[in-house]
Amino acid sequence: MKTSIATVSISGEFPEKLAAIAAAGFDGVEIFENDFLAFDGSPADVGRMVRDHGLEITLFQPFRDFEGMPEPLRSRTFDRAERKFDIMQQLGTDLVLVCSNVSPASLGGIDRAAADFHELGERAAKRGLRVGYEALAWGRHINDHRDAWEIVRRADHANIGIILDSFHTLSRKIDINSIRSIPKDKIFIVQMADAPLIDMDLLYWSRHFRNMPGEGDLPVTEFTAAVAATGYDGYLSLEIFNDQFRGGSPKAIAADGHRSLIYLGDKVRRIPEASALTVADMPDRATVKSVGFVEFSADEKDAENLTTILQTLGFRRTAEHRSKKVSLFEQGDIRLMLNTDEQGFANASFAVHGTSAYAVALIVDDAAKAYARAIALGAEPFAQAVAEGEVEIPAIRGVGGGLIYLIDDRSDLGRFAEIDFLPVADSPQVAPTHLRHVDHFAQTVAYDEMLTWLLFYTSIFDADKTPMVDIIDPAGVVRSQVVENGSGSLRITLNGAENRRTLAGHFIAEKFGSGIQHLAFHTDDIFATAAALKANGFRPLPISPNYYGDVEARFGLDPDLTERLKADNILYDRDDHGEYFQLYSTTFGEGFFFEIVQRSGYRGYGAANAIFRIAALKKALRPEGVPKL
Ligand code: MG
Ligand code: MG
Repeated sequence: MKTSIATVSISGEFPEKLAAIAAAGFDGVEIFENDFLAFDGSPADVGRMVRDHGLEITLFQPFRDFEGMPEPLRSRTFDRAERKFDIMQQLGTDLVLVCSNVSPASLGGIDRAAADFHELGERAAKRGLRVGYEALAWGRHINDHRDAWEIVRRADHANIGIILDSFHTLSRKIDINSIRSIPKDKIFIVQMADAPLIDMDLLYWSRHFRNMPGEGDLPVTEFTAAVAATGYDGYLSLEIFNDQFRGGSPKAIAADGHRSLIYLGDKVRRIPEASALTVADMPDRATVKSVGFVEFSADEKDAENLTTILQTLGFRRTAEHRSKKVSLFEQGDIRLMLNTDEQGFANASFAVHGTSAYAVALIVDDAAKAYARAIALGAEPFAQAVAEGEVEIPAIRGVGGGLIYLIDDRSDLGRFAEIDFLPVADSPQVAPTHLRHVDHFAQTVAYDEMLTWLLFYTSIFDADKTPMVDIIDPAGVVRSQVVENGSGSLRITLNGAENRRTLAGHFIAEKFGSGIQHLAFHTDDIFATAAALKANGFRPLPISPNYYGDVEARFGLDPDLTERLKADNILYDRDDHGEYFQLYSTTFGEGFFFEIVQRSGYRGYGAANAIFRIAALKKALRPEGVPKL
């Protein structure tokens, strides 16, 4: 399998696009005519630039409104084709994409179109060029790859083939099994795009909402498997029209694109009938067994405050790192680290982001394999020097430049706490609050990075994304989407903020970037936890009394239960699978907070309560007496 991307898929000036495409690791690039019309160089210059980047031009596009034209339009169309052929020869590519005719002047008829293509094939052959025909989902007469294939078949010319585009086929729900009978040497190239399921006009959907394979909801894996079943092992070429991507960083979009194709190839090669697709072997998606630890970076002053909060939450300081200023706090299966070292990455992270939960360790089946997969998918490796005898934990860079450590039980990795840390006995006696494990952590990112991180997590780890929900913040909408695995041992809520007046947007602006905004712990008994917290002097987030009247009516709760919820500032939700209780801390620093949940079968994250929680957090963020901005 070779990877390619159409220049139209990413933003920037033409040279910048090429540099980003090459840096991301693509083998080829589709040259979109408009891209170089705006560029100040000849087609020959463009061709040279592309090859200087080590890229191949996979095709030139588009050639529109060709087949089925009545005279005199037909003759003019052939003249136009000859001019495109001139450009192709100067560019140095042998393939042109002809998309199905949308002109009202065009005439239908498979044989008429086939005859036109036969003639075009003759002209192309004279110059050693090839022509690929693609059915646009909104073509006037041809909008189905099966009809395009019938035209190509009847054109019966070695220089005429079909171009498949996953969006055009899947958006119209055309049977993908029909691809399997196309001879592989007649498939000149395959274009890939995914899209979120939205019921809208096909042309508008395609021009604005396409996204990378795996980022949307279309069955792109099944499509690609059907292609591979023909024996096709040529280019998979991204053709993505997306307003968000056009506004994004060319480097980041190209990197996402390459990751999406490698991930797609890896999924498809595992389907036996599709094994013709040759893709580098890589380990399976990593199974996350639990969250190993969460590490905060802080200065001495913030560390003191954070220590107090952790202690009121019932965490005991159990150990100190041998060679760094890192304290370990524990409760149940939860491990939190507080790093105040003046050297190393944690300190650099503190300098940029202030006090934050900058690293999370995931316990996986096999850390070496998980790391190898992440690197194969373009994740950025991270390493820093450790002292003699200490454990070197494999790590990659994650959201907001933070770290994801990968730990397993196969080696010393699982024993890092015993090896790198010395137990301390002098911690003040705090009463445990029955917190068992990390239920989820929430990462806040800029809205236009949401797809990047969804693809990052779901391609490396065995986890899926849930549909997007809108969380109403009093100051605007925050988009929320969850990455979770079947067992619930990995749950990440990703919140995309468009507006800095929202709580999430404020967090990003103040933290100079994305990161973990809240950390949720699980308890089996929320009321026992609430009582223990109270005894430790923990200050819960005060919830408006109005909430409780509403929740009682909504769920028909026993008034006694409502009273208990209200007394302890506990939020309540329920779905078909069970109940959910939530208790929040006030915010720390610029909007970080803790959450405690009791989840009894419930599958969500309390989205219905978010508006009350956000309003309460915002109120708590403002010092008393300071008027609302
Ligand atoms: Mg296309
Ligand atoms: Mg939460």
